[in-house]
Formats: sequence, structure tokens, C-alpha cells
Amino acid sequence: MKFRIVPSTRDGRQQLLTTYLINDTLAIDAGAIAVGLSIEEQLRIRSIVLTHTHLDHVFSLPLYITDLYDKLLEPVHVYCTESDHAALDQYLFNHRMWIPFEVLRNSHTELLAFHHYHAGESFNAEGLRITPVQVSHTVLTHGLLVEDDETALLFTSDTGATDRIWQLAADCAKLRAVFIDLSFPNRLTELARVSHHHSPITLVEELVKIRDDLQIYGIHLKTPYRDIVIGEIDALKNDRITIAEVGREYIFT
Ligand SMILES: [Zn+2]
Ligand SMILES: [Zn+2]
Repeated sequence: MKFRIVPSTRDGRQQLLTTYLINDTLAIDAGAIAVGLSIEEQLRIRSIVLTHTHLDHVFSLPLYITDLYDKLLEPVHVYCTESDHAALDQYLFNHRMWIPFEVLRNSHTELLAFHHYHAGESFNAEGLRITPVQVSHTVLTHGLLVEDDETALLFTSDTGATDRIWQLAADCAKLRAVFIDLSFPNRLTELARVSHHHSPITLVEELVKIRDDLQIYGIHLKTPYRDIVIGEIDALKNDRITIAEVGREYIFT
């Protein structure tokens, strides 16, 4: 399974907005989807799974879909909760902010096709089996277990301390890696706790719940603190934890 963090800053190293690309055809979240990918790369994406509707995760969905307006022959599939769909409808895809969903169609097709998922109920998209699991954030948010026949990857999305997703990790023999929220440096640990994110300190607290043969990648590092968090993780000298490089293509077998 191929994995890449889509870059969203001019230097290509930072992750201001969140989109993860799996096998070129499935996007997890749509923050950077119109920002860090070429039009050709955007056209290869056929399905998008949204973990929640915070702006850094949906920011460029409206621009992405209108950029592709006259190129789509079939809709792009969007998987999210019913409440996330309603929030996008009410707050983003309206006449004041952009274009309402009902207008988003060309002469061939509607541009977006929505599918509602429920926690704990797996669904298939782009040849992958995806299981959403509710995590602990300030709004309803789901982490995702993404599986093909041989391999599985786990994405926590934005979360603080949580439990259910680690039970799922323990039960999945083909799981190769965990991608976990690591938003803040240690000096902002209290902010990490109240905003339901992680710092290196809270990640270490969480580590006891995570199967110890799994490689753990820190993701969602807030741009101003990225270098500080990398230094704090290096200082731990814990082989289990690394920081995922933005823009690098990882292949898991
Ligand atoms: Zn969030
Ligand atoms: Zn976020």
C-alpha cells in the first residue's frame, strides 16, 4: 500500500492542511487536496474519506471540485458521517461561501457523490476496506483502519488519549504502521490535552496502549512547531516513533 502526506506549504516540508494519499486513488481528508497536487494527480483520486469537518481537513474540497468541473465524467465519491455532510452543506457549500451541492454538476455527472459511514461499520473504497473508529477530539471525529489483502495502516486523525482504536490495532495482524496526531511541542502539552491532540509527552503516555511491534509515525505537526517536535521526538531515542516526512512516498508490504 502506498502512502503520502500531501504538502501544503511553499517549501513542501510542512503540513498546514491535511490530506493523505493512499495508492494515488484514495484521499483521506481534503485539506490540501487542491493545494499540494497537480491537476493530473487530483484527477486520479476517485474517493475521499473525511475524518471530521475542521477546516484544515476540508479546506480545499470546494476548490478541488470546481477545478475539476469540466473534466469529470463520473462523480468523486465522498465518505463521511451524516452530520459532517450536513455541516459541509450548511457552512461551506452554500451561496455565501462557495457553490451549493445541488449546483455541482456538469453535462455528464454530478461532481460529488456522498456516502455516509458509521463507526465500527467497514466499507469498501478503491479496492480498500476501511473501518472508521470514533476517537477523542473536540468534534465528532473518526480514525480509520485501511486494509488491502496483505497490509493495513491505521490513521488516528485528530485525537487525544483514546482506547477503542488501540483495541482494533491489537486485533489486526496485518497492521504495519500507525499514523498518530502529534500536533504540539511539550511546552504546549496542556493545550494539547484540552484541544484533544498530542504532544510528545502525551504520546508517550498513550504508547502503553499500542501494540509494541508497530511503527508509529507522528503526523499533523502544526507548522510553527514542526522542528521543535522533531527535536523532542529525537531526544526520546525511541525506535518505535518517527516523524512522517511530508511529500515522501512510503510503500508498505
Ligand atoms: Zn480537528
Ligand atoms: Zn486537524
